[in-house]
Amino acid sequence: MDYYSSEIAKLIEEFSALPGIGAKSAQRLAFHILNMPEDHVQSLSAAIISAKQNVRYCKCCYNLTDQDICPICQDKARDHKTIMVVENTRDLVAYEKTGKYEGIYHVLHGAISPMLGIGPNDIKLKELMVRLEQDVDEVIIATNSSIEGETTAMYISKLIKPAGIKVTRIASGVPVGGDLEYIDEVTLLRALQGRTEL
Ligand code: ZN
Repeated sequence: MDYYSSEIAKLIEEFSALPGIGAKSAQRLAFHILNMPEDHVQSLSAAIISAKQNVRYCKCCYNLTDQDICPICQDKARDHKTIMVVENTRDLVAYEKTGKYEGIYHVLHGAISPMLGIGPNDIKLKELMVRLEQDVDEVIIATNSSIEGETTAMYISKLIKPAGIKVTRIASGVPVGGDLEYIDEVTLLRALQGRTEL
């Protein structure tokens, strides 16, 4: 027996397809939205569509932005010769929140995973190599300490080292398998300060 009308069931189904949303949360969200004033629902759906249409990759670091070049890359006060390589925008945000990192970033949008069939060409690695043709002092590899993150770090360091650029890896104060975004700022800073040359 169907408990809900197909419209409600569809809404619940859409929500439960989102990460971290279980069946109960999906139900709660669906009913919350049905109880919201219509203009709130309109502005919520407009915000989703507008973000999807206007957010793109920064042409320099591949951070998500609504401009051609993201504010971090535009910032002249930052050290443009130090590039921190992260797996995704959430990791970049985690480091930005520490307020202590003054270099710029490169967002890979993934990590190499032979098991999942994700190779070097499936992440923004070629794009990183192009950037390194310019004057760069140090590349800090801040991929996660998962197997994929470590594999990616090794791969990148082997690729870059012949170019004579200093390559460092953040310290392993970060728990193995830990996602950078869940780690507190103090731990992140300690990992950054304790980075070692590869
Ligand atoms: Zn950028």
